[in-house]
Amino acid sequence: MKFYDAHNHLQDDRFAGRQHELLATCEKSGITRMVVNGACEADWPQVLQLARANKTVLPSFGYHPWYLAERTPDWLKNLEKYLDEIPGAVGEIGLDRWKPDLPYEGQEAAFLAQLHIAAARNLPVSIHCLQAWGRLHELLRDHPRPPCGFVLHSFGGPVEMIPAFAKLGAYFSFPGYFLHERKLRQREAFKKVPANRLLIETDAPDQHLPEDKILHPLVGADGKPLNHPANLPAVHSGLAEFLGENEAALTARVEENFLRVFGGL
Ligand SMILES: [Zn+2]
Repeated sequence: MKFYDAHNHLQDDRFAGRQHELLATCEKSGITRMVVNGACEADWPQVLQLARANKTVLPSFGYHPWYLAERTPDWLKNLEKYLDEIPGAVGEIGLDRWKPDLPYEGQEAAFLAQLHIAAARNLPVSIHCLQAWGRLHELLRDHPRPPCGFVLHSFGGPVEMIPAFAKLGAYFSFPGYFLHERKLRQREAFKKVPANRLLIETDAPDQHLPEDKILHPLVGADGKPLNHPANLPAVHSGLAEFLGENEAALTARVEENFLRVFGGL
């Protein structure tokens, strides 16, 4: 089986230079491609470097709402420069009204500026959204979107909004974290995701799987556990079991979906 990680952060400093070792394990596990999301300007050179060195890596460049305060005056020009440099996606971008003390002001403008670039270049976008689903829908509805589609990564929004987002071109990405018993509401929502819009992700190094499902335990330099991107097949089997679908059939369906949205890159 071939696996495609719709969203991770392989460049993350917590992996502390072990990226090539992690990639080798991923390749042995059948992971064919992974979208590696830079979340701020400091990430972008590392994402570019990883993509140049390994064709498994599909680079994605964007400013995540948590890091907007770090923007340089040239951030948008810089973003375009990276997208000129290598075929890549846009992300991780988004809206966040959940994180305590994070200012919401300015998030929409930054989101829209990046969405415009993606729409103009027809590049897929990876979107983070916490507690801003109504507003996200309005912004996507009222502005140009990339015809290839966009990904709602770790989709945890209201199940009722799935058809409205799907109509705008959304793909819905399922993380291993939702396999935890207590995440039943989020898992249940995926029963309503259209068959041709489902994606699967690790969000490594974050979003740990339940202990008994972890295939590749990993610990950072500080002793804290990290999610290994090669845990992706376990996310597939967990979701297949929950949906009552044959795992090979689910994996083939996710491959088709991944190639439809990211295949141009
Ligand atoms: Zn992420």
